[in-house]
Order: sequence, then structure tokens, then C-alpha cells
Amino acid sequence: ITATDLVEASLARIQETEGKLGAFLKIDDEGARARANKLDEQGEVGPLVALPIGIKDNISTQDVLTTAGSKILGDYTPVYDATVMDKLYYAGANMVGKLNMDEFGMGSSNENSGFFPVRNPWDLSRVPGGSSGGAAASVAAGQVRFALGSDTGGSIRQPAAFCGVVGLKPTYGRVSRYGLIAFASSLDQIGPLTPTVEDAAHVLEAIAGYDHRDSTSAEVDNVKYTSALTGDVKGLKVAVPREFLGEGVEVGVKEKVKQALKVLNDLGAEVEEVSLPHAEYAVATYYLLSPAEASSNLARYDGVRFGTRVDGENLIDMYCRTRSAGFGAEVKRRIMLGTYALSSGYYDAYYLKAQQVRTLIRQDFEKIFADYDVVIGPTSPTTAFKIGEKTSDPLTMYLNDICTIPVSLAGLPAISVPCGLADGLPVGLQIVGKPFDEAGVLKVAHAYE
Ligand code: GLN
Repeated sequence: ITATDLVEASLARIQETEGKLGAFLKIDDEGARARANKLDEQGEVGPLVALPIGIKDNISTQDVLTTAGSKILGDYTPVYDATVMDKLYYAGANMVGKLNMDEFGMGSSNENSGFFPVRNPWDLSRVPGGSSGGAAASVAAGQVRFALGSDTGGSIRQPAAFCGVVGLKPTYGRVSRYGLIAFASSLDQIGPLTPTVEDAAHVLEAIAGYDHRDSTSAEVDNVKYTSALTGDVKGLKVAVPREFLGEGVEVGVKEKVKQALKVLNDLGAEVEEVSLPHAEYAVATYYLLSPAEASSNLARYDGVRFGTRVDGENLIDMYCRTRSAGFGAEVKRRIMLGTYALSSGYYDAYYLKAQQVRTLIRQDFEKIFADYDVVIGPTSPTTAFKIGEKTSDPLTMYLNDICTIPVSLAGLPAISVPCGLADGLPVGLQIVGKPFDEAGVLKVAHAYE
């Protein structure tokens, strides 16, 4: 089998399914065929050789449209590749295109894409989750072998759960953010969405590692994650926070998570209930900190340096018209929330307070990890909901990330692995590890899977 065969199979599958799904914002068939040709000629080898992959559209790809799901970057083509792209190409992978997403990563359903929504391949009337909804749907539908997404408050894990695939958010700092279009810089991490846990280990091996071009990149040794997949979880200590199985979690989801815990117990793990006392403040904390960072990060889209410009009477008027036309409603809401939380007079009450609560949440996890190896619960309190069901009420939408957000605030590695169906829809099991213990997280997920 050649690289060309693989890319043609992927493009044919995209052709067949894309009309229904809307997973791609840009199909780079020309580029993919050229890369396949080169791979076939060179006979290059690498751990991911010739695998057709999709990339979330907030990851910069040289000479290939990169919109971050926003009209304001509707015609933006980066002149360089993100570090993760350099690494994936080095490992032999072949990108077939850029995947749809909620604008700048702001959303949990992909309904905030500036272009068109993505549909869930399990039920086309439902959302695929977000903001890496295109990535999750594309992997679930077999369009690509794997995808890269990004996760700020759950955007890899929640769509992976909704679409029945594996999604891994690495420890903050494990994977370079160089070339990732920033949403909330203290939370953003790139990670894989894959069919299996073993695939996730292979992809992480390829993309992780220190990068001098990202000042928050961690100087820790990369690990051979695939060697961790021993299947042995005997004596492993599993903590289950009662807050993750409380009110608001669907009965079907609870049931599947409990069954999964039973499986781990049967494999020799010790499962105990614990508490994350500050978890109830996590969503509020996240919706102060992430919009604050976003309001600053998005200031650069002013019609001068990037993408779309709408002309005006003078400079201020041009800024105003450009940003009014270029940003969608949710992005505008977040910019307003963020500038408010950062404004003088409110800074101490909101931004600073939220930073303090963030520390308390991190300490909740530290205390648990003094006695336990992993923390487990559902990835999302619900299965995939209907398109349109939550669009009129942003708060209900925000609450869908209640299980993933505390983990993001603490910067910890976490995986979502499929744990069965509830009413015919996939449920995700979230396994959270100590800082930089992706190997441990992958080991448990693999043993369960
Ligand atoms: N759904 C959350 C939000 O809207 C998280 C998104 C993300 O992780 N990028 O901010």
C-alpha cells in the first residue's frame, strides 16, 4: 500500500461523508497528493508514515488557510508551520485538510463556527461537541486516521466523548503552542483525537517535547508513551470525586462511568470516593480568566495586520467596523466579559479573585494526588445534545464543561476514552493524571479499553 493509496482512500471517504458532516473548513487535496507523491518517492519511514490526518483550524499551517473558525481570519494564510506540524511531517504524517471548530475555540457544540456547524456522525441532528468538533467528527466518521485539536477548557475531551473517540489533553507545557492561534494562553494545549488509546500514545510521542519558541514549553524529558501500555493496573489507586457524579449528570452517563470503574476494580485497581471542594467554582473561575486572556489575545485582530478589513471614516472607525463584522456573537460576549473583569475597579473583585480560586482548585487536586494515582469521572455530564438545544442560553452551554474545566485550571493531563453507549450515544470516561504523567493516564485508559 502506498501513501497515494492512503490519501486517495481518505479523500474518497471525505467526498462521501462531508456533505452531511461539515467537518472540514479546507480540504487540501492538492497539497496532500503532492506530499503523498513525495513520501512514495522517498520511501521515507517514520512512526506515522503516510497516515492521512486532519488539523484543527487554529493550528498554523504554512500556505494553507487557517481561520480559527472566524470570519475575521477568513482569508488568512500563515507563512509558517506550527511546531506540531513540523513534528508531524517529520514523523511522516500527511495532512489532508483543516477542521471546523467553534470560533477561536469558544464553544462546546461547534455551533459557534463562523462558517457552518458540524454534525455528529452518530446522529446528524446532534452536535459533535466543541470546540474541536470537526476533529472529533472527522475521526469518528473515518475521514482521517487521526486529528489534532486544542483544549482550553475541554475542547479535545468533550467532543471526543460526544463522538465516541479518544481525546488526550496533555499537561500544560508538554506540547508546544508555537503556531497555535491563542484563545487563553495559560490554558491552551494541543493534543490528539484518535480511534484508540495506542494511537494517542503514538501521536503524543511525535508532537510532545520542549520548544524554545514557546516560553511556557516545559523542559521535561519526553517519554516513550507506548511503552507504558502494559495493561497492568493492579494496586493502582483511583479517586472518584463525588462532585463529578452529582446533580446534573445524566443517569445513563453515571451508569456507564460506574460500570467502567467496576471494570478497573476487577482488573485490580482500588477505587475510592474523594472530594474536590472547590470544583463548584471552576466554571465561574474559567469564565473570568479565559475571557480576560482572550480579550487581550484578540486585540491583535484590528484589520491592520491580519485577515479581513472593513474600511471606515478613520482609524478607530475602521477598527470598529472590522471587529463588528469579523467576530461572531459569542466572541464578542467573551471580549466584553474579559475587558470588564480586567478593568480598573473590577480587577481585584473578579480577575484577581478568580486567580486565587484557580490556586485552590489546583491544590484540591494536589491533595488527592498525594494518595491516588489517577482521578476518574465522566468527561461530560451529558451525551451529545440536539443542534439548537442550548444556543439560546450560554450559561447552560457553559455548564456542559463542568467536568473538564477544573482539570484545565489545574493544568493536568487528561484523556477521554469511550465507555459505552447511553440511549445509542457515546459516553466518555475522563481519566486525569498528575502533572506530566501522561504515561500513567494512557496506561489506565489502555487497560480499560
Ligand atoms: N467550551 C469551553 C469554552 O467555550 C472550552 C473551549 C475550549 O476548550 N477551547 O470556552
